[in-house]
Amino acid sequence: MVSTSKSRLTSLLLDISTHEGEVRHIEEIGPHFRLVSLASDGFGKASWTPGDMVQVIVVGEALLGPWEIRTYTPLAFDPGTRTAEILWYIHGNGPGSDWAVSATVGTACRLVGPRRAVSLLKPQRPLVFFGDETSFSTAIAARETPSGHRDVRFVFEVDSVEESRAVLERFDLADATLVARRAGDGHLDEVERDVLTAFRSEAAATGVLTGKASSIQRLYRALRAAGAQGRQVSNVPYWAVGKKGLKGH
Ligand SMILES: Cc1cc2nc3c(=O)[nH]c(=O)nc-3n(C[C@H](O)[C@H](O)[C@H](O)COP(=O)(O)OP(=O)(O)OC[C@H]3O[C@@H](n4cnc5c(N)ncnc54)[C@H](O)[C@@H]3O)c2cc1C
Repeated sequence: MVSTSKSRLTSLLLDISTHEGEVRHIEEIGPHFRLVSLASDGFGKASWTPGDMVQVIVVGEALLGPWEIRTYTPLAFDPGTRTAEILWYIHGNGPGSDWAVSATVGTACRLVGPRRAVSLLKPQRPLVFFGDETSFSTAIAARETPSGHRDVRFVFEVDSVEESRAVLERFDLADATLVARRAGDGHLDEVERDVLTAFRSEAAATGVLTGKASSIQRLYRALRAAGAQGRQVSNVPYWAVGKKGLKGH
């Protein structure tokens, strides 16, 4: 009896906090990226600002059992067709990554959001945007703002410059600066130089830092030391070594 009412309560909570969805379209873009279109009636009533996140339950279907939720950023969102399109990075070391590898058209899922993560509307241009492969979807979403990609300098740290370049070219971000990761984060000197140069060369610049937590920390410190005010720089860590399922703020 008690367990029946507990499971009813759980189902109710699940219903209230998530909405049903399914994969409408999925496309492999190179070995480590999937372009995933998720459809949900719940998106029909939603409002979306570029940079907002959507969360997907990637393991489990009920709150009672084991479940895992992961966070992604639509590069486009259409309440009319009730779809969110996400560029998903396959890093190969977690259930979120595995979910996108095994998903096919019609795969069902439960979703949360969209919810605020980083606003791409607020930061004044010129803007320097830093991230990595997990930030490509967010970077592309900036084209949905009134200023589009105008006056944005993109700097990414990536595993494969070649693969990343090919992915970004498809979304008109061919001129992004791509720096290959090196052991011991040796590449971050170059990343820091690129970010600071972009920041210093433009009056009233702002910064948006996304991607790997430790890289963001270092760049935030460097920007502050170079004179940036705290309010000029937004940062949202997307992942951290050894941590699971970061959720933005
Ligand atoms: C607000 C927000 C928006 C995001 N938007 C996107 C997006 O649009 N597209 C996207 O692909 N990702 C995005 N991410 C990142 C994504 O949620 C994380 O990479 C997440 O950890 C993936 O879940 P997982 O189950 O694959 O790995 P987890 O189980 O969370 O992590 C397992 C381990 O894998 C490692 N790991 C996690 N991510 C990476 C990585 N990228 N590279 C190398 N190692 C990693 C870590 O060591 C971690 O301990 C976003 C995150 C946040 C918070």
